[in-house]
Amino acid sequence: MHFCNVCHGPTQGALSLKGYPLFLGVLPPDCPEAALSFDLVLHLCPTCQHLMKEDNLPPDIQDIWYSQEQYAAPCPALSGIGAQPMLDFMAFLAPSLPQSGVVLEIGSFDGYLLSLFQAKGWQVRGCDPNPASAIARERFGIDTRQEFFAASSYPAKTFDLVVVRHLLEHMADPHALVEQICAVLIDTGLLALEVPNARHILALGEIGALHHEHVSHFTTKSLARLLERHGLRLLAVEDGDVLRVLCGKAPAKTDHADVNLAEIDLASMLERHAARMDDVRATFARLRGQNARLAIFGASGHTTGLLSLMEPADLPRVCAVFDNDPKKHGLRLGPFMVSAPARLAEFEFDVLIVSSYTYQSEILEQLLQYSGRDFDLITFYPATRHYPAPGTEDGNDTRS
Ligand SMILES: [Zn+2]
Repeated sequence: MHFCNVCHGPTQGALSLKGYPLFLGVLPPDCPEAALSFDLVLHLCPTCQHLMKEDNLPPDIQDIWYSQEQYAAPCPALSGIGAQPMLDFMAFLAPSLPQSGVVLEIGSFDGYLLSLFQAKGWQVRGCDPNPASAIARERFGIDTRQEFFAASSYPAKTFDLVVVRHLLEHMADPHALVEQICAVLIDTGLLALEVPNARHILALGEIGALHHEHVSHFTTKSLARLLERHGLRLLAVEDGDVLRVLCGKAPAKTDHADVNLAEIDLASMLERHAARMDDVRATFARLRGQNARLAIFGASGHTTGLLSLMEPADLPRVCAVFDNDPKKHGLRLGPFMVSAPARLAEFEFDVLIVSSYTYQSEILEQLLQYSGRDFDLITFYPATRHYPAPGTEDGNDTRS
């Protein structure tokens, strides 16, 4: 019997992926653990419709994971890649935030998001065991502790705001983290959260989004249920590509009747998601039949998920994997070395697969310069958000 990590009721098996790779995205070429894989079993809670992993991986396995230097999203402070989602997050918070205060970001990475708060006049503190903490200190002068968050490291009731992006879903016990956060918030303090949106992932059929690192796949409903148990009220919710929530202990000023807390039928959505993955497998079968030479643009967990949908016979036909992040060049994704897109012309291929949801639009824009080349493009998602290049007036996405 397994129990829900939100409501603690019994759960039921919902999805099983045999031998899913432990590591997402790139690794050093000589990493001995690169080939590790484990069965990934997801459970659904019939009480609160929370989707979560059956068991978390043992701590020693997780340690291999989180101690990898490449365990890192792109560094917006250094490359600009990944900055837009943080600007979107700030735009979400803006209408509900006080003018200034003291903010702690847990999982502050390179300090980019905190630098945005700093520019608004907030006092900022960071906390992240990732070596990128050094960038936050050196580039932005942000007081950042290079360690895991523990409430005991801070005086009680210190912060006006605690920000946690893309961390809660990694925790075996999300209640324990929220409880510790509540201990360092002042009585009128706010908690701003961003997590992947299970409803969106399943509706979109996002490749590679169900993996070992994410213990929980939250919906607005299950996240609200979790927070309510700590006396936190929802002040603002964005139920979009990701799930953004601002909550606080103080009574809500407005009644958020517009927040959709309706039950979502995740079981049916999981079935449709599985059918979507079968469609992707069928695409690879068709390309196999054509003996097409393949290249992949994107070297993230999305591509790890994509490779898991290929047959072994497909791999020899992949001749290149490209990514815009210079930190990934020369590293390995599965059996492939990652190359800079500037080298695209050096490779012969028939089909270029755009392997990203978040950056699909930017990649397509970038590929316009190769429109004379003779290769087909494969994308997996409808047109995603389009961010016009700096200095252009084009705000409309004209691609179909
Ligand atoms: Zn539950």
